[in-house]
Amino acid sequence: MKSNRKPKFHIPMASPDITEAEKKAVMSVLETTTFSMGPEHVKFEQAIANHVGAKHAIAVNSGTAGLHLCIRAANIGKGDLVITTPFSFMASSNVLLFENTIPIFVDVDPVTGNIDVELVSQAVIDLKAGGDSAKKWLPRKGAENIGELKAILPVDVFGQPYDYDPLRKIADKHNMILIEDACEALGAEYKGKKAGKLGDMATFAFYPNKQITTGEGGMIVTDDDKLATMMRALRNQGRAPGDTWLEHSYLGYNYRLDEMSAAMGRVQMTRIDELLEKRAKVANWYFTNLKNNKALSLPIIVADTTKVSWFVFVVRIAAEYNRDDVINQLATFGIPSRPYFAPIHLQPFMIEKFGYKMGDFPITEDLGNRGMALPFSGVMTEDHVIEVSESLAKILK
Ligand SMILES: *Cc1c(COP(=O)(O)O)cnc(C)c1O
Repeated sequence: MKSNRKPKFHIPMASPDITEAEKKAVMSVLETTTFSMGPEHVKFEQAIANHVGAKHAIAVNSGTAGLHLCIRAANIGKGDLVITTPFSFMASSNVLLFENTIPIFVDVDPVTGNIDVELVSQAVIDLKAGGDSAKKWLPRKGAENIGELKAILPVDVFGQPYDYDPLRKIADKHNMILIEDACEALGAEYKGKKAGKLGDMATFAFYPNKQITTGEGGMIVTDDDKLATMMRALRNQGRAPGDTWLEHSYLGYNYRLDEMSAAMGRVQMTRIDELLEKRAKVANWYFTNLKNNKALSLPIIVADTTKVSWFVFVVRIAAEYNRDDVINQLATFGIPSRPYFAPIHLQPFMIEKFGYKMGDFPITEDLGNRGMALPFSGVMTEDHVIEVSESLAKILK
C-alpha cells in the first residue's frame, strides 16, 4: 500500500526496556566460564519466587516449555482431557497436543476475554457424566479414545487474571489440577492474590514483548514440592536428583535457561515495579486519548482485578468497520497494529485434527474479528500514543 503520510515517529509494535544494569549483568556472565546452570538462573528463580510468593520457581527457556512441563508433571497424556480456552496465544493449546491430550474448548467471558467459568462448570459436569452429555463438549473428530478429565488450563488474558475462585472450587470438587497460563500477567493480582499463585502451577514468559524479558525465556512457579522436583528433572534431560550427566530417570528435554538470559531477567526483576508503572502510564494515555472515539471499545478491568499488569493494549473495533482494513490503513500512517488473539480452534491444523468450524465459539470469534492490539511498551512516549490515537480518529470517522 502506498504511504499517504510520513509518520512523525518510528513507533514499534512492542519494545524491551533495557538499561546499563542489564547490559553489565550479561557482560559479567561473559567474563566467567559458566554459561548454563550457574548462579544467575538460581538468583533469577529466587527473584520470581519472592515476587510471586511461591515456594518454587523453575527457570526454562520459553513460556511454551514451561507450560509443557506443567502438563508432563501433572501426568496428563494421551487421550486425557483438559478444559481450556480457544481465545489465547497458540502455545496454551499446543502443549496439550504435544502429549496427544485433547483440549476441550469452552468459550470466553465477553468482557475480559478469559475462560467462562459457568461453561467450565457445565463442561465438567457433562464430561464426568459421559455419554451424550459429554459429547457436546468434545470436538467433532480426533476424540475417539478418551482418557480422563484431568485439568483446567485458564489463561490470564492481556494481563488480567480472572475468575479463579470458582475455578479453584470446580477443580477441587472434581479432583482436577488447575494450571495457570500467566505468560501475559507477571505482577497482576486477582482479589489481592498474585498471578502465578492462582493455580497448582503457573508459567510466566519473557519474550521481548512481555513485561520483563530475557530474550527467550520462561518461569514455572508452584508451591508443590513433588511437582517442582519433577519439573526440574524434566527441564534437564530427565535427570532426577542424584542422576549423573549421563543418567536419565525420565524422558526429558533441554528446556534450561542460559546464564546470560537469566542475568538479564534477574536485573529486570529488580526493576519490576518501575517497568509495570511505566506500562500502566502508557495504558492511561491511551484511555485518555481514545475515550471519545465512538468506534472503539477500550479494555475493561473488572473489580476482582486488584492489579492489572499491562501486557498489550487491545481495543475492539465497532462491528460496522472491518478490523483488517483499519490495520492496513494504520500501516499507511506508519503505525503497526495486530489482530489479537486469532481464535485457536480456527487454526488450520486444529480444523484438520479436530474438525472445528466457524461458529463453534462465537464470543472468541467475535473478539478475534474485532480485537486489535495497538503499539504498546513501557518505553512509548505520550507523543507516540497521541499519534496513534489521532491516526485512529482519522480512519474511524
Ligand atoms: C507469550 C505467551 C506464551 C508463551 O510464549 P513463549 O513465546 O513460548 O515464551 C504462552 N501463552 C500466552 C497466553 C502468551 O501470551
